[in-house]
Amino acid sequence: MKFGTKVIHAGYNPHDDKKSGAVMPPIYQTSTYIQKAPNDHLGYEYARTQNPTRDILQANLAALEGAKHAVCFGSGMAAVDAIIKLLKPGDEIISTNDLYGGTYRTFRRIFEKYGLKFHFIDLKEAKNITQHFNQNTKMVWIETPTNPMLNIIDIEAVATLAKNYSKDIKVVVDNTFATPYLQQPMSLGADIVIHSATKYLGGHSDVIHGVAICNDDSIEEDLRFIQNGTGAVPGPQDCFLVLRGIKTLNVRMQQHCKNGEAIARFLKDHPKVDKVHWPGFESHFNHEIAKKQMKNFGGMVSFSMKNDSMEAGVKLLSNTHYFLLAESLGGVESLIGHPATMTHASIPKEEREKTGVTDSLIRLSVGIEDAEDLIADLDQALSKI
Ligand SMILES: *Cc1c(COP(=O)(O)O)cnc(C)c1O
Repeated sequence: MKFGTKVIHAGYNPHDDKKSGAVMPPIYQTSTYIQKAPNDHLGYEYARTQNPTRDILQANLAALEGAKHAVCFGSGMAAVDAIIKLLKPGDEIISTNDLYGGTYRTFRRIFEKYGLKFHFIDLKEAKNITQHFNQNTKMVWIETPTNPMLNIIDIEAVATLAKNYSKDIKVVVDNTFATPYLQQPMSLGADIVIHSATKYLGGHSDVIHGVAICNDDSIEEDLRFIQNGTGAVPGPQDCFLVLRGIKTLNVRMQQHCKNGEAIARFLKDHPKVDKVHWPGFESHFNHEIAKKQMKNFGGMVSFSMKNDSMEAGVKLLSNTHYFLLAESLGGVESLIGHPATMTHASIPKEEREKTGVTDSLIRLSVGIEDAEDLIADLDQALSKI
């Protein structure tokens, strides 16, 4: 099956629903399942452990990433939490220095307490990683493109360097920004792919959901044990919403990419705009790697203004109509955000400016509206600066 067919058909065959042949999978809103005699049942005992709606979504998600297994969670952060619990005290993790804020916070404020050691390094040059390996290194955790600077990391190069150092290092890729439409990290050497399905996979800003995807049976077994043991499972209604969102992932992503490009090019030529960050520009650092590992460049764009002040940033945000000022990304509607006062507010100004998060930096999650309307909206808001 090709990707556009997988999003619609993988994981569920209506012929399997013997009772009705329902084209959409039923929402099995139940906490438990009948047994004929103790342990004589249809494979379902208790809904923390298994739920048929969740099973269908898991099969669909595994197929999208070209993998064997998917393990779903109640949020992207619950998936992060489960993956880190594969490790033990003394283990070390190498990650990027512009990691998603929620993941960074969990690593530092929750898991350091349990004896795990994290290194946050610049991975725009993959070879930087080699000097940080030691015998305790058990995991490499990357995101690409990153938030909000859209930095590109060479997944294949990082995975190869990690495996050459030790086969025991698990390579984890947070594929939330790219989605499996644009990039499939398992095929580039990743062991685990994680998503906040809240974003592009769900795609309609109506559900919180997460998933960890892998090929290795023993990793899957451990993740399942944690999923059931810790219990951060998604409800069947939420699984249904993600399944339904995924049906249009292939077409939505095409429009996100088209609109993202139109907005990036419009901003680049605008007299009030300073820098535009979008991996499709030839001048973008690692543009060649983006071209190699991604099918297109996505719908995330960030930019700074020549008037690089908090006031300019806040004024722009307060004056858009279609770009809604809100946290999150990846929905059909365009969103606008201000990293300096929102996602990166807790990072000192000097620190955040080192990574490019200046006072006027604006992050756009470009939706699938008509690009002309989106451009007109940004143009009128910029005219007020
Ligand atoms: C949103 C997000 C997460 C966390 O997911 P939730 O569903 O909000 O818990 C993790 N990684 C990235 C890159 C994200 O954008």
